[in-house]
Amino acid sequence: MLFAEIIRRKRDGSRLDPETIAEVIAEYAADRIPDYQMAALLMAVFFRGLEEDELRAWTSAMLHSGDVMDFSDIPGPKVDKHSTGGVGDKISIPLAPLVAACGASVPMISGRGLGHTGGTLDKLESIPGFTTRLEPARFRAVLRENGVAMLGQTENIVPADKRMYALRDVTGTVESIPLIAASIMSKKLAEGISGLVLDVKVGSGAFMKTRARATELARTLVAVGAGNGVRTTAFLTDMDAPLGNTVGNALEVRESIEILKGCGPADTTELTVVFGAEMLRLAGMATSIDDGRSAISSAIASGAGLDKFRKMVAAQGGNPAVADDPGLLPTAAHTVGVKPSRAGFVGSVDCAGVGIASLILGGGRRTKEDGIDPAVGARILARRGEFVGAGDDLAVIEYNDDRNLAEAARIIRDAFAIVDAPSVPGPLVIDVISSSSNQR
Ligand code: URA
Repeated sequence: MLFAEIIRRKRDGSRLDPETIAEVIAEYAADRIPDYQMAALLMAVFFRGLEEDELRAWTSAMLHSGDVMDFSDIPGPKVDKHSTGGVGDKISIPLAPLVAACGASVPMISGRGLGHTGGTLDKLESIPGFTTRLEPARFRAVLRENGVAMLGQTENIVPADKRMYALRDVTGTVESIPLIAASIMSKKLAEGISGLVLDVKVGSGAFMKTRARATELARTLVAVGAGNGVRTTAFLTDMDAPLGNTVGNALEVRESIEILKGCGPADTTELTVVFGAEMLRLAGMATSIDDGRSAISSAIASGAGLDKFRKMVAAQGGNPAVADDPGLLPTAAHTVGVKPSRAGFVGSVDCAGVGIASLILGGGRRTKEDGIDPAVGARILARRGEFVGAGDDLAVIEYNDDRNLAEAARIIRDAFAIVDAPSVPGPLVIDVISSSSNQR
């Protein structure tokens, strides 16, 4: 069938049959469909959605566009976690080594920044020398020896998503439940894991702005996981304020190290412990969430998680000394404080705005070819519910190039709603949807 006809059919609301979907994804992965046509189809899917059988076919075609890993020769359970993308969301970086320190293997394949959200790979690559690309044999060896590796997709792991993810980022087609579900689950299923924790963000900084949409995405993800034999739990978590105290690549690695040292911010530490506990439970290595919490907390207190992080950084070519001296990470040349529009209490924070500010300072990409500046971003000083005086700083911008500085400062100032009375932020974990609910 002519590709233009496939686009037209989806645009007009018709169902695509599984064979057509398989062919489209395979052809796109093989570079035989140009980006402009795929972008049009993605936009049609964005508006028309995918039915259950279309999503199954789309995810399966993405998964089989490349290699599906088999780590069955490595003893012990393999588990992973994935976030739908937030602002200041660095949780994977402390989490993966902590879970490995507790005895499960974590073959984590992460993504780059998407839209206004940062990506784990971009953050990790701010560590001098760190590579997120390992040959398959080396990946296996590192996982066997150290229990954790954090990589990007190789050419052979879900190549269809590798191209499509970058295309969606710059064509306004990110916030689609079936496209997100197929993208995330194809990569996770390719890892050969038996347990998966998903962090489905909800709020101003998330792709899903409402609880209803986030719940729909969580249910879709859990159903795809369960349908493929992976014990899957999705947490709906708050993204109505940036997570933790930093937004920006190297800044977020610093905060990750603080979490591993037990001196991280309360919110990022709490999510790390909760997700780690659930990963251990899904792996069969904790009998309950409380049991898992105490294992993860012990791995923080003993330094076992930080030690795994050091080994992971060394195994992936990075300088492990960053774990002890975060000053070795790239640092921006300049800083400037951002004052509030007036004195008052911090109400909501539009964290998409904070993410965009970091992006235009150079911390993210405007087009898929852009490079990024690892050092830039923002340190958030004022949290929801806190009082700020007119002369206080809401945030400190760290920058190298002042071209977009004024705009970034304005965006950050406007992102903080200043109100007359303090409000109490809602819970960090809003809901939990699991395919494996016993003993939670
Ligand atoms: N994360 C992914 O891996 N894919 C998406 O589409 C969105 C977030």
